[in-house]
Amino acid sequence: MNIYLLILTLLFSSCFGDKNTLSEIKSRIKISDTKNIISILSSDSLKGRDNKNKGYFKAADYVISYFKKNNINPLYYGFKDVFYSDSIETYNIVGTVGEFLNKRKTILIGAHLDHIGINEGTVDSIYNGANDNASGCVSVLQIGSFLSQYKWDYNIVLALFAEEEKGLRGSYNLAKRMKQERIDLEYVINFEMIGKEMQIGENKVYLTGYEMSNLAQEINKVVPGFVTFFSKSKEFNLFQRSDNYPFYKEFNIPSQTLSSFDFENYNYYHHVNDELDYLNIKNLNDIITSSTLFISNFLNKKTKINLITN
Ligand SMILES: [Zn+2]
Repeated sequence: MNIYLLILTLLFSSCFGDKNTLSEIKSRIKISDTKNIISILSSDSLKGRDNKNKGYFKAADYVISYFKKNNINPLYYGFKDVFYSDSIETYNIVGTVGEFLNKRKTILIGAHLDHIGINEGTVDSIYNGANDNASGCVSVLQIGSFLSQYKWDYNIVLALFAEEEKGLRGSYNLAKRMKQERIDLEYVINFEMIGKEMQIGENKVYLTGYEMSNLAQEINKVVPGFVTFFSKSKEFNLFQRSDNYPFYKEFNIPSQTLSSFDFENYNYYHHVNDELDYLNIKNLNDIITSSTLFISNFLNKKTKINLITN
């Protein structure tokens, strides 16, 4: 090919071609990094990521250093949204991709970082919480570091919540704070237990509150078959049981959780064996790359996500 023609072709494709393709995302979000991050977040030294035994704060330090290394900026001083839980000072970790502009539309990507600590009476006493919810956290970190390499027309908030296990305390605190600050929040994507493939197949998740918004439909337009309806989610009202819920309550916006825990694919929920060795890291990385694909597509195309009211 003529060199001028080649330059023209490259210029044309960079202006009009699809940004953030799956092959580009897959080349940047590496399974080895996913494995490394989740192994750190679920290691014994973090003692089940509870704030009483200080393991949570060690995990938080790791997340903050990760944010700094990946050019993610603090939304609040030191990345900390501080609050008290049973008289113990603790905090959510809140970062932002690029600059945070006050009047700009905002999306939030979140997962809870805390877990249930240790149980003194047993041989293996540490609740590592690899699936619950180091798997969701690694997803937020990987997606955030990918997005931080580009400029966007949205504010993108990355939140790792404290004290989910004690009743969504961290996410309630942040949702109320962001509401008071009049942040123009459009929608929230929360990740919860995505470390093991669903029984119906690989690279699939279900969405809590499936029929409440057009989110599942819009995701499946970008990643066909990725999001499924899961009847037990409705039966057990999982929509109200994770950190998406406070944002729905405060803002009345689409705020939903992606999960692959189908109650039968993993025996170690809130069990000391919830460890890295029992997870499917390839499938986890596929869920992360699929999620990065739909989120970057929504941002590039300014996709509207709306509640469906009957
Ligand atoms: Zn959880």
